[in-house]
Amino acid sequence: MTISVYANPTADSRYLAFRHGAAPGAAASGGTAPQSAASIPFGWMPLIPRWLLADQIDPVSETFNLAGSPWLVQIAQTAVPFTANHGGSLYALLGGILSSVLAAAYVYALVSRSATIERVTGERTAALQFANLRLSEDIALRMRTEKFLRLRERVIDVSANAIIICSAEAPDYAIEYVNPAFERITGYGAVEVVGRSLESLQGSSQDQQNIGEIRAALRDKREGHALLRNYRKDGTGYWNDLFIAPVQDENGVISHFVVAQYDITAVMRYEAELEFQAQHDSLTGLANRNLLRERLTQAIAGADRSGTPIWIVFVDVDRFKFVNDTLGHEAGDTLLKVLAGRLQSAAREADTVARVGGDEFVLVLREHTEDGPGLAVLQHIMDAVAQPLMIEEHEFFLTCSIGMATYPTDGSTAENLIKHADIAMYRAKEMGRNTFQFYTETMNARTLDRLSIEADLRHALERDEFVVHYQPQVDLSSGRIVGMEALIRWNHPVHGQIAPARFIGLAEEMGLIIPIGAWVMRTACIQTKSWQQAGLGDLRVAVNLSPRQFTQKALVQSIAEVLQATGLEARFLDLELTESMVMHDVDNAIAILRNLKALGVHISIDDFGTGYSSLSYLRRFPIDVLKIDQSFVNDLTVDPDDAAIVVSIISLAHSLRLQVIAEGVETAEQLAFLRARGCDQVQGYYFSRPLAPEAFERMFQEGSRLLDPEIS
Ligand code: C2E
Ligand code: MG
Ligand code: MG
Repeated sequence: MTISVYANPTADSRYLAFRHGAAPGAAASGGTAPQSAASIPFGWMPLIPRWLLADQIDPVSETFNLAGSPWLVQIAQTAVPFTANHGGSLYALLGGILSSVLAAAYVYALVSRSATIERVTGERTAALQFANLRLSEDIALRMRTEKFLRLRERVIDVSANAIIICSAEAPDYAIEYVNPAFERITGYGAVEVVGRSLESLQGSSQDQQNIGEIRAALRDKREGHALLRNYRKDGTGYWNDLFIAPVQDENGVISHFVVAQYDITAVMRYEAELEFQAQHDSLTGLANRNLLRERLTQAIAGADRSGTPIWIVFVDVDRFKFVNDTLGHEAGDTLLKVLAGRLQSAAREADTVARVGGDEFVLVLREHTEDGPGLAVLQHIMDAVAQPLMIEEHEFFLTCSIGMATYPTDGSTAENLIKHADIAMYRAKEMGRNTFQFYTETMNARTLDRLSIEADLRHALERDEFVVHYQPQVDLSSGRIVGMEALIRWNHPVHGQIAPARFIGLAEEMGLIIPIGAWVMRTACIQTKSWQQAGLGDLRVAVNLSPRQFTQKALVQSIAEVLQATGLEARFLDLELTESMVMHDVDNAIAILRNLKALGVHISIDDFGTGYSSLSYLRRFPIDVLKIDQSFVNDLTVDPDDAAIVVSIISLAHSLRLQVIAEGVETAEQLAFLRARGCDQVQGYYFSRPLAPEAFERMFQEGSRLLDPEIS
């Protein structure tokens, strides 16, 4: 506070009598009027807005009179800035503000921190959730992978194929794992092979032509495949289809090889079996046509080098069909097996024996001489076949017909040679069986039409193309015709007259012989009856029976019917059978013959001497006539052996009280010989060829040529 006392009514400093406190500011205007607070000088004061100045009370002035002079007392408050007196407050304020700010800042910081924390937490949570998700996916994947790995392991474990895992490190390629299949297949336990080199499993590489490929694959670190022959622990071999493949580690480096072995021994065996089957006949185990062709082709190549010939021998069992039909296929099969064995032993080891059809065999014989194997071989084969044979207590006597073709003379290819040998065999059959024939050019032409004949034969009967010719049988004691043999002929529209030798066998094979035979029987009986009625006398007719006819169930009945229908008495019918027909199954034959005999017919054994009749059996057969085969009669006058045979047949027959008819008598000498030896009847071109019925009748009526001057 400033207390100023002026001896003057105005605040004139010249009259200042007293002052307490600081004088008002020099800067203050020199006016006497009380100054407003606003104008209170402080130099800088004006700069401060008034409100900032504290306690700004206007100065109080009071005048009074003292001693008659006016005085002025002025009390003024020194203008101090508000701050002057309120420092503490201000500081408190400031402090308050500051602390508020700080507090605010702190709160803000807190708030923003928690916001950040919240955000970060949110973010972290999200990231965590994501990571979690990834993790669980990862875990699932890993679990799947692991599961899969375990599955793979198990698959490897249970795999039927051997699997080896070996190191890719040369040179050992040490085995690190083998699966149970490996142990099973090879017999080696895992402990025995793990750590050993892969090569140690291969044994000797001598018979391992393909091992090179596996070695190369190991070396080049690539895949490889080879068919190997390995050995089990016990030393047995097995075939092994081996695959090898490199395995990379995580870094793409080839660290291992996996080796898969497929035991294909069974497949190989099966293959070999198939190959064997493809080349062999399943019944007899002999080579089949395929292998025959192959071997023959090889033989041809060999013969070309050595210049020595090859013989191709075609063997066909005579009347095999008869055995098959009589005893059944099982017996037929047994028989073929026995024959196969015999042929095999008749040939030498280097020769090929093949079965090319039901009862057809082909032998390829090689001989390292210029003449070829020699006829002795053929005889050897025929003898082997002819050995008596027991099947189901039945004794069989078989014969065979053989055709021969020679390389290089008769053909240049295997196929051709076999065909030509076959043709020659047919010729041997035509020649009366149980013989052999060499192939000749002319045979070929004969055989070519065989196929067309076969087709035509089916229709020949319905087209009425067959005729029966009759060849007289002359009784030597009376010189008269006592009977005739009925011989069939086929008037083929293209080929002309065909002899029975060319189609009877065929008809037999085709089963046509039954209707054809029945037709002949009927025709012959009708003819004979009509000749008898025409006054030609008590003629007897001989009809040939084929094997199939003979074994036909209805034989006896059908003959009885024919006799009944034609009115021919049974005693005028003579049935001609061959030895082999009755010898195949003696007991059965005897039974059939007895039934036939019961009808009253006669029985003749045709072509006697060519078969294998056992004399003891002959005695048991209820037969009437033996017909000496023309092959003996032919050479009767030149071959003493044949003459001896004929003589003994005649005496044998007579001792059995059988009549004897000689076939194929062509000359007066033959006739004379036979007559001298007591032969009962003769048949042959010397008297007459087989004739058509009209010609036969004419010949009968003329009768001239039949009468030999010596006989009458
Ligand atoms: P086979 O029963 O031995 O008949 C005799 C064969 O000798 C006949 O031949 C006949 O013509 C012939 N021949 C007769 N005399 C002489 C001669 O002096 N010299 C020569 N070289 N041959 C003579 P064919 O007629 O050709 O008959 C051949 C074979 O066919 C017959 O032999 C017979 O086994 C068979 N055959 C003929 N007709 C029939 C038939 O109707 N049925 C059956 N199943 N077979 C028949
Ligand atoms: Mg006959
Ligand atoms: Mg005959």
